[in-house]
Formats: sequence, structure tokens, C-alpha cells
Amino acid sequence: MTATIEPDVGSSDAPQTTFDSFNPATGDLVGTHPIDGREQVDAAVAAAREATEWWQGLGFEGRKEYLLQWRSVLTRRLHQLADQVHREGGKPHGDALLEAGLAIDHIAWAAKHAPKVLGRQKVASGLLMTNQAATVEYRPLGVVGVIGPWNYPIFTPIGSIAYALAAGNTVVFKPSEYTPGVGRFLVDTFTEVVHGRPVLNLVTGLGETGSALCTADIDKIAFTGSSATGKKVMAACAENLTPVVIEAGGKDSMIVDEDADLEAAAEAALWGGMSNAGQTCIGTERVYVHERVFDPFMAELLRQAEGMRPGYDDGGVYGPSTMPKQLDVIRSHIEDAIARGGRPVLGGADAVGERFVQPTILTHVPEDSLAVTEETFGPTLVVNPVKDMDEAVELTNATKYGLAGAVFGKKRAMDIAGRIRSGMTSVNSVIAFAAVPGLPFGGVGDSGFGRIHGPDGLREFTYPKAITRQRMKPVIMLQSMARDEKTESRFTQILTLLHGGSGTLPKKR
Ligand code: NAD
Repeated sequence: MTATIEPDVGSSDAPQTTFDSFNPATGDLVGTHPIDGREQVDAAVAAAREATEWWQGLGFEGRKEYLLQWRSVLTRRLHQLADQVHREGGKPHGDALLEAGLAIDHIAWAAKHAPKVLGRQKVASGLLMTNQAATVEYRPLGVVGVIGPWNYPIFTPIGSIAYALAAGNTVVFKPSEYTPGVGRFLVDTFTEVVHGRPVLNLVTGLGETGSALCTADIDKIAFTGSSATGKKVMAACAENLTPVVIEAGGKDSMIVDEDADLEAAAEAALWGGMSNAGQTCIGTERVYVHERVFDPFMAELLRQAEGMRPGYDDGGVYGPSTMPKQLDVIRSHIEDAIARGGRPVLGGADAVGERFVQPTILTHVPEDSLAVTEETFGPTLVVNPVKDMDEAVELTNATKYGLAGAVFGKKRAMDIAGRIRSGMTSVNSVIAFAAVPGLPFGGVGDSGFGRIHGPDGLREFTYPKAITRQRMKPVIMLQSMARDEKTESRFTQILTLLHGGSGTLPKKR
């Protein structure tokens, strides 16, 4: 039964101290982990706090060495790590390898770029303050709490962990209750590299453990998960004015223009929508196709989808739904779409089994259907025709989410990409931005705020420290109780010279 593969906290009245994680494809027990409460969470934060002095004392170069060693250890144990993801999350081993590989690339990028992005930099002091030398640098916050999801249990938390560590913070990591073993693997390998020092610490458990982390003596929380939990995390963090970065859900669209390469667009839509059983925050859930190419696009999409099926170690191209309770959500979205007039052209409500969901493609789905407005997180695609690209952009943006998206086309593709209200867009591919470590990753609206990856992702785990150093006496002394009218008059003269130039109003446009 599907119910047996939810994380198990037992059924007796006595408080449980451990929980089990299961293989979502087979129901087999994968591991047993502690349910950490307030005491254990506080202890992990205290240990991390103590380790900050050593970690920060290493400087950028010292930390880089450890992070690059960790990256090498993970690379050498790639298959072991991928196997852990395969068994706990159910995704194909090859997909897990890919996920781990991208995360490793991010660790290297964060380690190598932290000195340049965060180190002390000169800032022009401006004409009024020419006597001052100005600098800014980005200082670590202290201890960062990272709360992760299960769908990309390496890539997603590493996007916060690697960047927070490279910036000089220590970390307490609470992985999802569905993938605690992956979390343990990451923390154990890092701890091995730093000779047992508690720089990256693990706490395991369900929502309450995450909640305890939010109200612990922590300097920032990086949360990745659903928008609903993100709101709870923010509310809990408000208690101590703890800043948060929220990486939440999405309802990304792919726009296919009339001059698009339809074969490539169909291939991308299938991979963006179905890979990882559709459990990708930046996955394709909606496709808007120019009506002039809708029929040939659908024909190509169905041709490529032929024979595609889920499975586990038996040639299936994607695995089971990792979280059994999501199956009801997927079924309800498909049923609602069909009840409102949507047409199933592949799969349908019957496609939702006890663990696996067969690929499902729906067309002409009304825009107020759940399958269009809410995150489905299953191997489903809604493909609707649009009369032009203005309509495609309008419908794409008519969502409370704003995470990512894709555009296929030639002439207008870049222009369309710029008009999409989301944090990231790929042109003529899907999800490419996530693999470019120098690009910021994050959303707007219900998809959250703040950024991981790239320079923005490094700065996210710091505070800017500005310093001015007086190099010589000022030409006019403004910061003095002895300032006189003559000084003020010279000041206004300089100001007029600097800023009084535009005599006329800007032309009316
Ligand atoms: P979830 O919100 O159920 O859980 C995420 C984490 O929060 C888990 O570790 C969970 O134990 C913890 N948690 C639960 N209640 C909590 C509370 N009250 N306080 C603190 N922590 C709590 O999400 P999920 O099902 O694990 O992940 C799927 C969701 O994550 C999807 O919506 C997906 O789109 C989103 N996601 C977003 C990104 C992104 O970068 N934007 C990446 C991956 C996944």
C-alpha cells in the first residue's frame, strides 16, 4: 500500500525518537534516522557556532581548499551518492548522477569565486567625498540553517550549503524526511574532509525539526520547499527577526512560437515535464503553442512520447512519485481539467497508479483549471494553443508563481523571454540556467525571494560591510559644529555645478 512508504514515525502513544525512510518504488526500508527536537537542534547550532571561528579564520583560500577537496570526494563517490538518491527518491540512477554532477560544479564555482565576489573592493567615493577612500566587503552572517526538499536532495540544498560555506558561514542542514540518507551522506563526507569539525551539521526529522531550526539561535534560514511551508518558515523566523531566503514552487510554462524548431521544442517539453516524474520546481507544467503550429507540434509531441513509461531498474525513463500523498493531487488536477472540457490526448485520470504515474498530456484546458493554476508536480503537461505571442506571455504571467520558464522560437524568442515575469528563462532549451553556476537562481511571487547560485547567491549569505577612510583633509569641512555660512554657500555652489545642469524638463514621450 502507498501509505506504508510515507516516512514512518510509528503508531504507539510513546513519543517516537526515530523515523524510517522507504524506497518509494518498492516500499523497502532504506534507513532509520533520529527525530531531532529542540535540544538536538540547539546543540547542532551551538556546535556550528563554535566552529565559525576556525572556519572564518581560514579565509577564502583556506575554505576553498576544503570545499574543493569535498567536491573531489563527492566526485569519486558519485555512484554511491547517486545510489542513495535512487533508493530514497526513486529516480533513475542516471538522473541522480546528473543531479550530483551539477551540484559538484556549483561547489567548485562557489569556492573559486567567493574571494573576488565577497572580498574587499574599492568603491568610487564621488566628487563630494574625494578625500575619502571607500571600500565594501561581504562578511559572513554566522550560522545558516538550510531546510531542503526531497525532489533534488543533492542539487537543491547544495545551492545554499556550498554558497553559505564559501562565504564563511557554518551550516546546520535539515534534509527532507523523505531523503534523510542523502543529507547524511553529504554531511558525513564534508565532516570527513574537515577532520570532524562541526562546520556542516545534520539534524533530521519531520516538519517540527525544521520549525525548531527556524527559531534556534541562527543567523539566516535558506528554505527550499512548497510555498505553503515557506509561509510557515517565514512566520517562525519573524519571532527573532531571522532573515530568510525562500525557494518555493512554480508553474512554469514553455512558449512555442510559430518559427520554433518543433522537434526540439517537443523533446524539451517532454523532458521538462516528465523527467523526475514531473517533480521539478522548474519543470514544464504548461505549454503555450502558436495556433499556426499547434497541430504539427502535438503530432511531434505524441510521436516522441510513444512508448515512454515510468519504472524502477527496468528501463523506465522516470521513477515513482516520491511522495505518495502527491498522487491524489495529480489525479485531482487531471480530473478537474477533464471535467472542465480539457482533452486527454495521452494518459488521463487512470494514469495515476499506486506509485507510478503514466505520462499524461492534456490539451485545450481552461485557464482556471487546477492543472493550470496550481503546481501539479507529476508527469503531466497541459498544452494549449494561443493566437499570438502576446497571449502566450499574458497567460504565462497570469500565475501567482514566477519561478522560471522556456521559450522556443527564432525572431522574437529573446524579446518574449524578457517579458516573462520569472526569475529565470531558457531560450531554445529547458532548465539550462540551473547548470550555469554564475547565474542567480530564484523566483518572484509565490515562488519566493532571495537568490542562490552565482554572485547573488554568495552575497545572500553575507552582510555588506562599508568602510570609508579619510585620506586627506576635505576641501570644505561639512561634518563640523563649527561649519559656517560661507562653507554652506560653497557647498551649494558645488552642488549646483554637479547637479543643477538639466535646465529643461524631459521631453514628453
Ligand atoms: P515541503 O514544503 O513539504 O518540505 C520542505 C522541507 O520543509 C522539508 O524538509 C520539511 O520537513 C520542512 N518543513 C515542513 N514543515 C516545516 C515547518 N513548519 N517549518 C520548517 N520546516 C518545515 O516541500 P517538499 O514536498 O519537500 O518539496 C517540494 C516543493 O519544493 C515543491 O513545491 C517544489 O516546487 C519546491 N522546490 C522548490 C525549489 C526551488 O528552488 N524554488 C527547488 C526544489 C523544490
